[in-house]
Amino acid sequence: MIILIDMDDVIADFDGEFYAKWCLKYPHKQIAHPDNRTKFYIKDESPPEYRDLIYSLCSENGFISSLPEIPGAVNALKQIKKLGNSVFICTSPLLYYENNVLEKYLWVEEHLGRNWTENIILTRDKTIVRGDILIDDKPEITGHCTPVWEHILFDRSYNRHIKGKKRMTWKNWKEVLGFNLKK
Ligand SMILES: [Mg+2]
Repeated sequence: MIILIDMDDVIADFDGEFYAKWCLKYPHKQIAHPDNRTKFYIKDESPPEYRDLIYSLCSENGFISSLPEIPGAVNALKQIKKLGNSVFICTSPLLYYENNVLEKYLWVEEHLGRNWTENIILTRDKTIVRGDILIDDKPEITGHCTPVWEHILFDRSYNRHIKGKKRMTWKNWKEVLGFNLKK
């Protein structure tokens, strides 16, 4: 199978790191904790006057390359590949791409190894990418095409209202993807 895997908040902890850095930098400007978010975009759940500060923090030099791994992700990606699947990291760069694009590559090299950088797909429209499965935390993924992949939700608080799609974490991925391994 061809398995496409999103990066932010699926393998790299964008929201967690953003929240930690925001609280340090702006202790008097409250935003929602990642576990309590109801909207996909941080900006949509924060006062409008924070918008520019939000953009500038997440496009800051070193922000993306410093994101921690979502626990279990790296090991799971390696195992999915080892099971004979083609695994691609399918990720949308921020509009402020200058640091973002380079640092996504640096992140993948640091956490997975340089050869995995050959399997990065950067696109703002994931519907045009072919694959059997897309694992992504975004509640609804739309674009120019009808997707050929099945969207499996990576479980986050802001996508729990979505019904009718499979949902997974790096704890139960084997069951959800049907990769239960016999010992
Ligand atoms: Mg994401």
